[in-house]
Amino acid sequence: MAGTVRSSGRVASALARIAVRVLDAVLPPLCLSCRAPVGRQGELCAACWSGLHFLHPPWCARCGRPLPHEGPDAPLCAGCAARPPPWRCGRAALAYDEASRGMILRFKHADRIEAAPTFASWMAAAGAELLAEAELLVPVPVHRWRLLARGYNQAALLAKHLARLSGVPWSPDVLLRRRATRSQQGLSATARRANVTAAAFTVPARLRHRLEGRGLLLVDDVQTTGATLSACTRVLAAAGAARVDVLVLARVVKPEATLI
Ligand SMILES: [Zn+2]
Ligand SMILES: [Zn+2]
Repeated sequence: MAGTVRSSGRVASALARIAVRVLDAVLPPLCLSCRAPVGRQGELCAACWSGLHFLHPPWCARCGRPLPHEGPDAPLCAGCAARPPPWRCGRAALAYDEASRGMILRFKHADRIEAAPTFASWMAAAGAELLAEAELLVPVPVHRWRLLARGYNQAALLAKHLARLSGVPWSPDVLLRRRATRSQQGLSATARRANVTAAAFTVPARLRHRLEGRGLLLVDDVQTTGATLSACTRVLAAAGAARVDVLVLARVVKPEATLI
């Protein structure tokens, strides 16, 4: 059943890609964010580009949150000092904010999958150290019903393009979502944690050998509270992964003071 659903997803995603190519032939390429005409597919117009907030060091050694000053060798943000995430090291290319939200939601829900190579290249730059050590890229899965409805998993598309850029293999089926969780939008942090628990994810027993003793890099589009990434990390660690790092396209960056 899962195989059938995955192949339906692949067919739908292949059709979506063909549709994009057909559209390209008759329409000019559009800005990934505001849809103004641009020179090439997968680009942003100058105004949208200048509005994005790319994250860069100094950042928290554990979660990649930008820090105001250079600190010691492995500086931690207040959030990680108080309550470290289960993963070893996390990085994000962009702040998830007013400037990036629309562009990412269109990628996620509106078939703007031609953005994937561009987004993956930003992630490869932000996560270069993690990719250098990674042995397998694992996208955060969506439930098969959602995959069927949407036709693609945006995290898997990002992982696929990251694999192409870095040479690290990726595997879309070692981690599965077995419970369709409610959409996270509009839920409080506590409700989000309750909504996504480790029980929502599973590693099929026949595929455990692929991740046992290996360094994994978990890939997703957006990190808000980190509840989904935490649940996935716990399941992968319990299945025998040597370590789990996290690389996302964009993350919510709250001021440090609100975390304490
Ligand atoms: Zn634009
Ligand atoms: Zn941190």
